[in-house]
Amino acid sequence: MEQLMWGTPEALRRLLCEVVSWKSMTLTEGEREFPLKVRAKLQELAYYKENPNFLSLHDVDLDRHFLTALYKHPDALETIVLISHFDTVNTEEYGDIEEFAYQPEELTKLLLSRMDELPENAQQDLKSGEYLFGRGTMDMKMGLVMHMGLIEKAAAEQWPINLLLLTVPDEEVNSAGMRAAVTKLLELKEVHQLSYSLFLNGEPVFSQEPGDRNYYVYSGSIGKIMPSALFYGKETHVGEPLSGITAPYIASFLTQRMEWNQSLQETVKGETTPLPVTLQQKDLKLEYSVQTPYRAAALYNVFLMERNADEIMRIFETVAADAARACNLAYREVCKAQAVDAIREVRVMRYEDLQDHAIHKFGPDFVEEVKAAVNKHAEWDDREKSFRIADTLMIECQELAPAMVLLFAPPYYPAVNSSANALVKQCVEYVKKQGLQQFGLDVGQVHYFNGISDLSYVNYQDLEEGWTAFKANTPVWGRSYSIPFDAMAKLQAPVLNVGPFGKDAHKRTERLHIKNAFEEVPALVEGMIREFFRNESTIATCE
Ligand SMILES: [Zn+2]
Repeated sequence: MEQLMWGTPEALRRLLCEVVSWKSMTLTEGEREFPLKVRAKLQELAYYKENPNFLSLHDVDLDRHFLTALYKHPDALETIVLISHFDTVNTEEYGDIEEFAYQPEELTKLLLSRMDELPENAQQDLKSGEYLFGRGTMDMKMGLVMHMGLIEKAAAEQWPINLLLLTVPDEEVNSAGMRAAVTKLLELKEVHQLSYSLFLNGEPVFSQEPGDRNYYVYSGSIGKIMPSALFYGKETHVGEPLSGITAPYIASFLTQRMEWNQSLQETVKGETTPLPVTLQQKDLKLEYSVQTPYRAAALYNVFLMERNADEIMRIFETVAADAARACNLAYREVCKAQAVDAIREVRVMRYEDLQDHAIHKFGPDFVEEVKAAVNKHAEWDDREKSFRIADTLMIECQELAPAMVLLFAPPYYPAVNSSANALVKQCVEYVKKQGLQQFGLDVGQVHYFNGISDLSYVNYQDLEEGWTAFKANTPVWGRSYSIPFDAMAKLQAPVLNVGPFGKDAHKRTERLHIKNAFEEVPALVEGMIREFFRNESTIATCE
């Protein structure tokens, strides 16, 4: 048998360090170049020299690409999709040692001489020699490296199964990579006659609470959605404050009620989502003046487990109605005490109703023109564009003001869970048992990966079509943002995440547990896949 390039823990460690040295922060040149480098690396394998067509780059956007590498056994149908993202978050928090963020061996040595700059638990880990520090080591280039090792081994040993490695950009921002990959996965399925059995991600283990050192596998991934509001008040002059109502005033009532709102928290299978929190609340007025601010916007973060977009919009509407009631009451009381006439009450409306109103008033072309004009602003992100579209429509429909216009701002990660699936149960059992037997590793199961992942875009299940509420209330839908819900619903196979243990993702103390990452997890994932093809008949029988 041929010698494997990545067959030992040392070789995986070298490969990881090389892959980390290829900077790939989201929305940088490095992110654009990264998949070409992975492709070049995989082209060194004899398998891809013989089967160059199984290795390909596919378009995402902004000159970014995702990469697929297929290992196909001639007689196998069953296919495991190995998912990873190759973008990383920024590195400014490394300060004067930023250049070392991409050199794990050097950084880990360097930090030894700057021990006092690190928090206590990072100091201990550094002293123990058990961790490798660096940007992307944990989140999640190790996952990709492990998958590369599996592909190499499967091809060399001709495992009776298919493996499809998929590595994508943009997970840390909008998951544009994975959203683009969904339709390609359906296409590859047809072209290569694949049957998808499992979507296996390799995101790292995130602690469930501070200081948590347990190892987990995840049989699902938490969802995230951003209910947002445009507040449109009525302008007035500072000399006559009660003849109008400011947008920040209206906003304050909703933000008070959205932050930590327990009606937007879910508990499923003993796991509970973090409470909602405000991500942004701002004035849309661009400069200081004595005209009162009458346009503002707020963005709230909500996590999901079993709920969909429609259910979130309904709850959001209830919370907003309560906020508007309280706002109107408070305003009227002051008007009464000051003996002035009140302006109209603040109403609550969905973005879709505002859009319908505008279409009715000006025709559908007008609304499309507004969207196109906003979309031309490359300097605005999807959040800003969402607010600007709603804002422009409100400026033209002031008969609706004052109002809270409820909408969704991207991104949306639907929740996904496969805990009840027989194959997933079998995989989880295998890792638990073998983890303990082979490595003395205590393995726990978590039903929803709490770090947000690209698994949100496969195995979509939504019988009530709750996604239509998302589509209808997302102003940028179909232009700068969309989610292929139909294609996602066709990718029906269970999800699972098994990745390496690390700590402090997105911090300057990001680090990977060496033994766990290079020995334990690769062996467990390999064994889990072997167990799968031993148990299932993955080979199509000839008639
Ligand atoms: Zn990640």
